[in-house]
Amino acid sequence: MKKGIVGIDVGGTNIKAAFVRGREIIRRINIPSHAQAGMDRSLQQIKLAIAPFKKKAACIGVGIAGIIDSGNGIVKFSPNLKGWNNVCLASMLRREFKLPVRVLNDVNAICLGEWKYGVARGYDNVFLFTLGTGVGGAAICEGRLLFGANGFAGEFGHTTITLKGPMCICGHRGHLERYAGAKYIVARAKRKMKKQRSRLADYDVLTPEIIARAAKQGDTVANEVFSEVGYYIGIGIANILALFDPDIVVISGGIARAGRVLFDPVRKTTRQMVLGAQHRHYKIVPAKLGDDAGILGAALFAQLTKKQALI
Ligand SMILES: [Zn+2]
Repeated sequence: MKKGIVGIDVGGTNIKAAFVRGREIIRRINIPSHAQAGMDRSLQQIKLAIAPFKKKAACIGVGIAGIIDSGNGIVKFSPNLKGWNNVCLASMLRREFKLPVRVLNDVNAICLGEWKYGVARGYDNVFLFTLGTGVGGAAICEGRLLFGANGFAGEFGHTTITLKGPMCICGHRGHLERYAGAKYIVARAKRKMKKQRSRLADYDVLTPEIIARAAKQGDTVANEVFSEVGYYIGIGIANILALFDPDIVVISGGIARAGRVLFDPVRKTTRQMVLGAQHRHYKIVPAKLGDDAGILGAALFAQLTKKQALI
């Protein structure tokens, strides 16, 4: 019986689990995470997602949002999962399944997946960020995933873009997430719709994807939204380039599929703002693997020795 790895992405709504061999996803499962029902309930769901694969699995890798101590497999805090404070997830799953378990931040998992199998393959210096409800980030520097002193590295969404900007969910002003998080993109469109006619008025519920589609179709409001949001993201990326000098910056998440309406203003602002633009080689590209990146990255992380993972 050929063994494989279980890769899991624990989100606030769903748990995506898969049985993986290298790049290949053999079988997958998607179940609700019951994140608001408390720790015991959501832990039960994680176990439920792993159970069908346990006999053929060599090890288990779990990607989860929040501050993760990957060296010890501890979820210190997870914003999506109610009641998860200092939970030693790795040892709990190890006891249950009698298999080696690794836990890492979900965006780190996505970054590993895109690095090993996706658009960032072959590069030693990678910065990846996710555009969704929140804005997450992860970095690979000189061929190693960057964890930082506290497991906090790569929090791109909470870097300051404007000094006196609007209040972020974290309690500080002018953070990137406050401009590029999904609900703020929608709020920007709604503010503009009060002053200008837009085909967006036909929709009861707006999403960044709908706004992107309208922008592609030439809607003025939608185009303004993306050029402004792209401007703020471009400032953020210029800061990242100055700090890390990556070969490639990968934008992940549903909005990254918006195409030129997003990438044109992002690339333009980055070029204008970054130090030494003419001397740099870098590219800013959309992610390739979609939801699979997190699963594949978590599975990959589970296979690494502590020395290889540098944890
Ligand atoms: Zn913030």
